[in-house]
Order: sequence, then structure tokens, then C-alpha cells
Amino acid sequence: MSEVNIVKCEDYSDANVKKAFDELIPLIGGLDWVKPGMKIMIKANLVTFLKPEAAATTHPSLLCELVKRLVEKGAEVVVGDSPGGMYNSIYVNRVYSATRIDDVKKFGGKLNENFGQSIAKFDEGKILKEFPYTSYLDDADVIINFCKLKSHGMMGMSAAVKNLFGIIPGTKKPEFHYRYPNHNDFANMLIDLNEFLKPKLCIVDAVVGMEGNGPTAGTPRQVGAILASENPYKLDLACSTIMGLKIDDVPTLSESFKRGYIPESIEKVDLNDDLNKYFVKDYDNVLTHRTLKFENQNTIFGRVSTKLLKAKPNLKSDECVGCGKCAEVCPVKAIEIVKGKAKIDRKKCIKCFCCQEFCPKGAMKVKRTLVAKLLTK
Ligand code: SF4
Ligand code: SF4
Repeated sequence: MSEVNIVKCEDYSDANVKKAFDELIPLIGGLDWVKPGMKIMIKANLVTFLKPEAAATTHPSLLCELVKRLVEKGAEVVVGDSPGGMYNSIYVNRVYSATRIDDVKKFGGKLNENFGQSIAKFDEGKILKEFPYTSYLDDADVIINFCKLKSHGMMGMSAAVKNLFGIIPGTKKPEFHYRYPNHNDFANMLIDLNEFLKPKLCIVDAVVGMEGNGPTAGTPRQVGAILASENPYKLDLACSTIMGLKIDDVPTLSESFKRGYIPESIEKVDLNDDLNKYFVKDYDNVLTHRTLKFENQNTIFGRVSTKLLKAKPNLKSDECVGCGKCAEVCPVKAIEIVKGKAKIDRKKCIKCFCCQEFCPKGAMKVKRTLVAKLLTK
């Protein structure tokens, strides 16, 4: 069994999804580990109320295929996530419905209806020692991380490692942005969540990924693949390679490398197939981090370059409808609505890009500075 496995899947038609899983499951060692009565929780990416065609959420066709196969083995399968926003039955069921995840019920799967919160104590965490998380995971014998491949304003890319931020209850997420305003700290927090939860298997829906203004307002982009691994860090390294990103473009990868979880190159990861076959030319990435290697230098140069190079949220005024969602999610209350438009207080802004992630109109963009654009490609 290779460390990272990838198979082609051209679209979400039943026939192609079945064919892809028929190929993928043996590559990951089969499903003989699934025993009757085993409780399997699938942590999907259900970030917000968007249809599957928006490419922001794990596609229901893939989830249904996996659920069907696990249920056939006798497992009790529950799909869940805590989207950004309220973590209660009314809110989350609206997300289930919009994302069509409730289709899993047709195949014997269940949707999480336990909206309780637990507290984790995690002494092994590098920076995350205690945190709240979604209680439904406490019932799991096994956890599967089933994520979506997307560009991401704050973290460069969203795939396996980032997906586990969804175990933090929605209303608590802004607090984490406030606690970890430095993007490398935030990445380490995400890595700690992965080390705490240790999913048995991670699968990436990269049939149609998201590019551009991700993770919710970008553009669907055909990739035509499903990836799977027991190792979320090496899996993300493979995903970043497909997207044309470097390790330094994605803080979860650069911090994983520092911890010794990934090698310096995808060449050193054992793959079942040639990744070049899946490379997407000109994937429109959000290069928030391409120059941030200067950021932590404790020098005047470091501080000046950070200011000159660091990407920031930028309002496209004509697309803003003044709904106030960005002000609601901003962890440092840096946004107010003035004359029907969002206005950012730059002195307060910690560049977490929550406003960009949750703007329902995609009016908030990631803006790279001119200097950053000139210095990097
Ligand atoms: S969430 Fe988007 S549309 Fe709503 S006020 Fe903020 S920027 Fe404008
Ligand atoms: S304005 Fe946007 S990027 Fe800045 S802190 Fe608020 S939510 Fe984060």
C-alpha cells in the first residue's frame, strides 16, 4: 500500500464514482477492518450553505459511495461537521440540506444530530493543550476525514489538515483566530487537531476543486481525481503539488515539514501513480504566503517586508450588499457597515480572512501587495 494513493474520477456520475472507488479501495488496503456494529464518523467539509456545484463542500455522490460500502460491511456511519456559524440543529440541518449531504440517508448513513461540545486536554499538543470540540466524535470507533480540495485565503490551501478545523464548534472558531493571529501558529493549531483526532483515513474530493477566491467564493475547477492516505500531511503535499503550490505557500505544510511529518519534496513520498498526470496547469491559487518567509525575521527588514508583502482582505465595493456577515465573523471586530458597505479598520485587522471566507457574495477578496506581486510569481 502506497503512502498516498490517487485515482482518476472525471465527474460525479454514479458510474464514474463507483469505478473510482472500485480502484481506490484496494489501493488503501480494502475495508476488511470494518466490523459489524463499528461506529464510523465521517468528518466532511460542510463549510456553509452552498450547493455541491459550488465546489465548496465534499460532494454527496462521493460520500454516498463510501457510506454505502461501509454500511454493507455492517458499520454504523454518521456524517457530520460544524460549519462556520451556529452549531445547532436548525443551522446545521440547513447546511445538510443545501449541500445535499442528506442523500447519505438513502444508503443507510446518518447525519450527526448531536450538537454537544466536549473539552479536550491534549498535553502532547505543540501549542494546543485544551480546546472544545464537537462531541459526536466521542462516539466514534473510527474517524474518516473526507475533505474537499480548495484554494484558501488564509492558509493557501484547504485539504486534509485544514478540514479538521471543523471539529471546533462554529461559534468558537473566531476565538481561535483571535488566539492564533500568526498564520504559522494557526497552522500548528491545525496540526495539533490532526494529531489529537488521528483519523484512520483521509480522502480528498478533488474531482472538481475550487480555485480563486476560496474556500467558499472561488470558482469550480476540474481536477478529476480522488486521493486517499492514512497520512494527512503527505496527502496535503500531494494535493499542493497538483495545484502547483510550494511547501512555503501553505503554512500547514511548512510547519509539518518543521515537525518532520513531510519530506522536503513530493519526490520522496511513495505514490501509487505518477502525480504529473494529475497536475493542473495554471490552477488559480491564492498566494497569501508566497513571500512570508521574511515575516519572522526579528529585524527592521523583516518588519518592513512583512508590511510590504503581506496580503490583506480587500472589499470589492460594488459586490457588497451590506449584509454584515463579515462584521459578525470578524474575531477582532475590525469591520463595521458604513452606508451599506463593509469598512475594515486596518489597524485592528489580523488578516485571518474570515470575512473573505464567509462573505455570501464573494465581495471580500485576498489582495496581494504590488511589491509581493513584483517579487514573486
Ligand atoms: S459579508 Fe460580504 S456582502 Fe456582506 S457586508 Fe460583508 S463584504 Fe459586504
Ligand atoms: S477584517 Fe477580515 S481579515 Fe481582518 S481580522 Fe476581520 S475578519 Fe479577519
